Amino acid sequence: MTTSSTCTICKQKPTVYKRQYSGERLCSKCFCLSIENKVRTTIAKHEMLRFDEKIAIGVSGGKDSMTLLHILNKLEKPFPKAKLVAITIDEGIEGYRNEAVRIAEKGCSKIEVAHVVVSFKESFGHSMDEVVQNLKAKDMDDKGLTPCAYCGVLRRRTLNSAARHVKATRLAVAHNLDDEIQTFLLNIFHGDLLRLARIEPASSSPLSSFVPRIKPLCSVLEREITLYAFLKKIDFQTTPCPYSHRALRNDIRAMLNRMEEKHPGLKYTTYRSGEKVRASVRDTMKTSEMRNCSICGEPSAADLCQTCKILRIFDSEKHSTQQA
Ligand SMILES: [Zn+2]
Ligand SMILES: [Zn+2]
Repeated sequence: MTTSSTCTICKQKPTVYKRQYSGERLCSKCFCLSIENKVRTTIAKHEMLRFDEKIAIGVSGGKDSMTLLHILNKLEKPFPKAKLVAITIDEGIEGYRNEAVRIAEKGCSKIEVAHVVVSFKESFGHSMDEVVQNLKAKDMDDKGLTPCAYCGVLRRRTLNSAARHVKATRLAVAHNLDDEIQTFLLNIFHGDLLRLARIEPASSSPLSSFVPRIKPLCSVLEREITLYAFLKKIDFQTTPCPYSHRALRNDIRAMLNRMEEKHPGLKYTTYRSGEKVRASVRDTMKTSEMRNCSICGEPSAADLCQTCKILRIFDSEKHSTQQA
């Protein structure tokens, strides 16, 4: 018998989640399957993976990356030639990152996935704490970029070189649908159409230094990832980064959450709108080809990569010459 508290899919088990934008009521099992199917469909739609891929996964220890690790491990099980390796970046944020590294380590050993930790300090000579102190000392902390912007550039770089180092053929990152539409709106607010054209579910480059990057969670809502992690008893870090509070992204997240509450489905229409805008921007603007940075040789959109530009600020004599 179906009642208002019974799952709309299996018509048997009790509902644990009402999906506002579709009207579905889902039991725990049907909900988790729907998320895994969504990820499987996204991977197929954007041709993210072949059967024999070596997939590096950026695992920060947060809910998104721990869930991505769990789901990819499950989806790749039928493909014995596929391999997973988790990469955790230790940015060097006292009292925050140590806990995350431990959680990532534990999560990986539980499902027997190889785990690599790479720190900013060993890669660039500066921890994120030192970068922030340096910005304060130079009186730059209120102007220009926030700590998150610096951290994002250095983290992207470190992930790419670490993935290349472990000979990964794909780099999977855990950006969810909320992240993607926040980035879309951020680029709209900043009028940065070139960057907008570059946000893709799967990006590649003819450069061998760039490990093709995929976002298998890009069509899953953040709150549904949290629920999935909770229902699957996946351990993740809940402490927010001490530097994240100033980011404009947080205000956009709050705004979108308020709007979705009032207008269910709005996040999905924003996502699709982002896809359309991206496609037409790509067609009308000549997006610059990636090249190798003239200092460090890493992939870059300009002659000098963002990482080298940042390191110049902190390190006027010694540039990033290390190669992975
Ligand atoms: Zn069900
Ligand atoms: Zn460079």
